[in-house]
Amino acid sequence: MKPPKSIPVGGYDYKVIQTNVATQHNCRGQCSHVALEITIEHSLLPNIKDEVFWHEVIHAIDKSYCDQELSEVQVAGLASGLHQVMNSLGVKFDWGK
Ligand SMILES: [Zn+2]
Repeated sequence: MKPPKSIPVGGYDYKVIQTNVATQHNCRGQCSHVALEITIEHSLLPNIKDEVFWHEVIHAIDKSYCDQELSEVQVAGLASGLHQVMNSLGVKFDWGK
């Protein structure tokens, strides 16, 4: 399936954008609660993009529902688990080129 253009979390709509975040910010993805954007490094392999997507979604959920109390390790663990479950259910995104 196509990745969503935006996702609703806690009453906000986060745009999902593939761009060059790796060289600009030295990371694979970002979740901006100000710009309401989830950005994913465009050069990653599709399966990695899926994991980064779920990771940034967890950051958005953490912001809206957990007061940003989750540590980066907890976010990473939840994201890996969610990615694995979604993958098992056949939820994989076609990120295109
Ligand atoms: Zn993170």
